[in-house]
Amino acid sequence: MKYNVLSKPDFKKALLKKEIKTVCLNIKVPKHLKDFCKDKKYFIKTHGCQANYRDSEIYKGYFELLGLKETDILEKADFILINSCAVRQKAEEKVLSELGEIKQLKTKDKNKILILAGCMAQEEKNIRTIINSFNFVDLVLGTHDLNNLVRNLDLIITKNQQIIDVSSSSGCIYEKLPSKRDSKFKAFVNITYGCDKFCSYCIVPFLRGRQRSRSIESILKECKELEKSGYKEITLLGQNVTSYGKDLKDGKSFANLLDKVASLNIPRINFLTSHPFDFDYKIIDVIKKHKNIMRYMHLPIQSGCDSILKLMNRKYTFDEYASIIEETRKKIPDIRFSTDIIVGFPNETKKQNEESLKNIKKINFDGAFTFIYSPREGTTAAKIKDNVPRKEKTERFKKLTNILRESFSKSNQKYIGKTLSVLVDSISKTDKNFLSGYSHENLLINFKGNKDLIGSIVKVKVISEHIYFLKGEIVI
Ligand code: SAH
Ligand code: SF4
Repeated sequence: MKYNVLSKPDFKKALLKKEIKTVCLNIKVPKHLKDFCKDKKYFIKTHGCQANYRDSEIYKGYFELLGLKETDILEKADFILINSCAVRQKAEEKVLSELGEIKQLKTKDKNKILILAGCMAQEEKNIRTIINSFNFVDLVLGTHDLNNLVRNLDLIITKNQQIIDVSSSSGCIYEKLPSKRDSKFKAFVNITYGCDKFCSYCIVPFLRGRQRSRSIESILKECKELEKSGYKEITLLGQNVTSYGKDLKDGKSFANLLDKVASLNIPRINFLTSHPFDFDYKIIDVIKKHKNIMRYMHLPIQSGCDSILKLMNRKYTFDEYASIIEETRKKIPDIRFSTDIIVGFPNETKKQNEESLKNIKKINFDGAFTFIYSPREGTTAAKIKDNVPRKEKTERFKKLTNILRESFSKSNQKYIGKTLSVLVDSISKTDKNFLSGYSHENLLINFKGNKDLIGSIVKVKVISEHIYFLKGEIVI
C-alpha cells in the first residue's frame, strides 16, 4: 500500500521564522471513532528528553478522549505509539530496532495500529527509511502535528490509509491540548517550544523549530490549575528556558515568569534547561527570594575549552560560565549545579581536551550527563571531517567520568548527617524495600518507609552517599 503524504519534513523550511498564533483547540471526536475504540487499549513508549515525555502525556490525553485505555503491556495494545528521539545516532537505532520487534506483533495481528511520532519523524532520511523498510508503520506524525492525531486515525480506520503527516515548522502555539499526566504530584509545564540557539552539533532546532514562548497568562493559568489539583512540584520546561520571552513583544523575561510562578502556593518549582548565554543575573535574586524554588540548576557547559565552545557556537567563554556558577553559589550557598558535557567534538586536540578537563574540574559539578559526540546530518558540525579516533574519544570519556565521580562524591559527602526535605516518588527501582525520592536540591535519596508516603514531602536524614544517590532514614 502507498502512503498518503499529507505533509513531509524539510529542514530549510523548519528554520524559517514565522508569525506565531496562539490557537485554543476545541477537539471533537466523531461517534464512529469512539465506537471503534471501545474496549481497545493503547501503549506508548517514550524516548529522549522531558519535552517528549510531556508530548506523550498529550498523546495519552487524545487516546483517552477516543475512549481507549492505557496498558503497559505492548502485546495487549491495539494502538502502539513510539515517541522517538533523534538527538544522537544511538537513540535512533534503538527506535528502529523496536519497530522491527513490533513488526512481528503486526504480522500476527494486522489490526494493530502503529504510530511513529516525535523527533525522528522530522527527518527526511527517516521518512525514506520508513517507506522503504518499515512500511508496516500506519502513521508517521511530526512534532508540530500532534493536534492532527484524531483526523489521521479516522483516515486510517475508515479509509484504510497509511499516512505521513510531518509539517516542517509551526506557526502555532496550541492551548487546551488534552493531557493525561503521568504523576498526580509532579508536573511539567511547557514555557517555550523549539530553540533559536543553533549549537553547531545539535539537531533540535531542525526538529522542533524556532523558539516560540507561551504567553505568561497561559503558563500561569496552567500552573494555577495544577496548584488547585494539589500538585507538589512544577518543572517549567523549554530547550532554553533562560531565553523565555525573547520572541514575545511584551518585554517579559524568564526572571519575571519565574517570580510569578514561584509566588503561587506550590511547594516546589524547578526549571529546565538553562543556557549560559541567555542567563540573566536577576534569576539568582528570584531564586534567593523564593524558598519554594528548588536549590538546583541544570546549566549545560558542553566543553571547558574556549576554542571548542566557539566551534560549538555556544556564545560564551569558560570564564563567563564560571562567573554564573560563582555568583549563584555566593548568593545561594545550598544550590547544586548539574551540567551536560560532550566528549570528542570533531578535531578536538589533546591540548584542548586537557584544558577542558582542567576547567571542568575547577567547577566541582554536583551532577552531570556526559555524551560522546554523534554527528547529526544537517548540522554545521556534521560537515567537519573528524580526525579523532573512536578509541581516543572513549579514553577522554573515561578521564572525564573519573573527574566527575570524584566531584559528585565530594559534593554528596556534604549532606551526610543532614536532614533534607524529600518528595517521595516511588518504590526504589533497585530495592523493593526502599522508597525513592528527590530532595529540594534534586538529590536522589533511597530510604525505608511505607508506600503510602508516595506523593508527600517528608524529612529524611542522610546516612551514606553512593556517588549517584544517597541513602537515608526518615525522621519522624
Ligand atoms: N536544550 C537542551 C537539551 C538539548 S539535548 C540544552 O541545550 O541543554 C541534551 C544534550 O544532548 C545537550 O545538552 C548536549 O550535551 C547533548 N547533545 C546534543 N546534540 C548532541 C550530539 N550531536 N552529540 C552528542 N551529544 C549531543
Ligand atoms: Fe540544541 Fe543548543 Fe538549542 Fe540546546 S540550546 S536544544 S543544545 S541548539
